[in-house]
Amino acid sequence: MSTSLNIALLGNPNTGKTSVFNSLTGLTQKVGNYPGITVEKKEGICKLNRTIKGHIIDLPGTYSLNASSMDESVVIELLLNKNSKDFPDVAVVITDVENLKRNLLLFTQVKDLGIPTLLVINMADQMKRKGIYLDLPVLEKALDTKVILVSTRKKKGLEELKEAILSYRKLSTTATITLRSIDEEYFQNLEKAFPNQSIYKLWLVITQDVNFSKIDRKRISDSTDFKTQSSSILKHLQQKETIKRYQFINSVLKQGMYINREAATDLRSRLDRVLIHKFWGYVIFFVILMGIFQSIFHWSSIPQDFIDSTFVSLSEFLKNNLPPGGFY
Ligand code: GDP
Ligand code: MG
Repeated sequence: MSTSLNIALLGNPNTGKTSVFNSLTGLTQKVGNYPGITVEKKEGICKLNRTIKGHIIDLPGTYSLNASSMDESVVIELLLNKNSKDFPDVAVVITDVENLKRNLLLFTQVKDLGIPTLLVINMADQMKRKGIYLDLPVLEKALDTKVILVSTRKKKGLEELKEAILSYRKLSTTATITLRSIDEEYFQNLEKAFPNQSIYKLWLVITQDVNFSKIDRKRISDSTDFKTQSSSILKHLQQKETIKRYQFINSVLKQGMYINREAATDLRSRLDRVLIHKFWGYVIFFVILMGIFQSIFHWSSIPQDFIDSTFVSLSEFLKNNLPPGGFY
């Protein structure tokens, strides 16, 4: 008997979701639209082992679960709708090694929904050039999940990713941050009103202005009490939530990531090393300023004379060629 797992690929735009999707699914892709809207829906099948298949969805790129566009709403609606036939058994958040800090925000949000969430750090091939070092065991411990280094360009880490997907049941579903530490009273009341519910899920239902008609109606009508809180209070709580998430991410990266700019070999780092050097930086700065000064006071006569002479000859030309008009 063969079984199928639902796998959702999530991540910021340009982190390599589609590349991972292509590597996993090969030629089995199906492209359509989400019902009623023009957001593209990409699905494919991946053979995980002899008996288990993965049904993979390449979700639209999103920076967070705070819906501000149709693309983001699609992602949130899927993650909140347990009854959807596409609801993921496992979420794979794809990040790019260069922008880990920004990328991890979405990871913390997805994990806090209580969905088993794997972290893929893609573009591993860029690490050496950028002087980035990662301590995977430390990251795994701090993020409380499996972390897989992948390079779709070099075809690295994909088998490991498949294995990690297969053992998704081992992943912890503990939330990364405790909402209660943001506002003890508000979230405690929410917990009391809806025992046995994921508190972050409720919080999203309350704060996100997306089409929840397909989602648990009862829960929404019950949550109106919490929704009638003034919107400025909700905004304030959301801001605190984001700050809390970044505090968490900063502490994780402080333990598990090290960037050695001296060792980086990409063009920008090389230029930086010279341009902001303690001594040569000032010398170059001074030379550039001198250049600007020189060009304004001495070399400017060249374009000035050119413009002058162009206008003189243009007016000569017009004088000789235009017929007399009304403005004489
Ligand atoms: P998506 O927007 O998340 O679907 O990202 P794409 O799969 O379209 O990839 C975005 C860009 O990243 C493309 O230019 C890819 O060629 C590049 N890219 C994807 N994977 C890798 C990788 O492993 N290494 C490097 N260096 N670039 C990659
Ligand atoms: Mg894509």
